[in-house]
Amino acid sequence: MAVNTEKIYHCEVRRLFKKSKFTKEWRWMPKAVSEAVSSADAKFRCKDCHGALKLPLNHLADATTPHVVHKSRVDSEYCPAGVHFQLSKDGREPRLSLKPLM
Ligand SMILES: [Zn+2]
Repeated sequence: MAVNTEKIYHCEVRRLFKKSKFTKEWRWMPKAVSEAVSSADAKFRCKDCHGALKLPLNHLADATTPHVVHKSRVDSEYCPAGVHFQLSKDGREPRLSLKPLM
């Protein structure tokens, strides 16, 4: 298995919450990717950098646990969950995505 393969197993999904009788609010909730994939969660983001995630193209052929990767390579370079961040040796600081999902 390639070392530089990104595999993220936990993400956040967007859910509508009832705040009171009249108001509802969108909130991000942590969820396992395997659950998010099988349920109808339309939107999910990285729990660490809030960047967009995507299913890898080969996810159906991949028999292992469902996982996602960062859509943007830049996110992966500065996210604690990103493989490019983990492989970097320059002591860079993690940061939030430049295009965080709100
Ligand atoms: Zn991230």
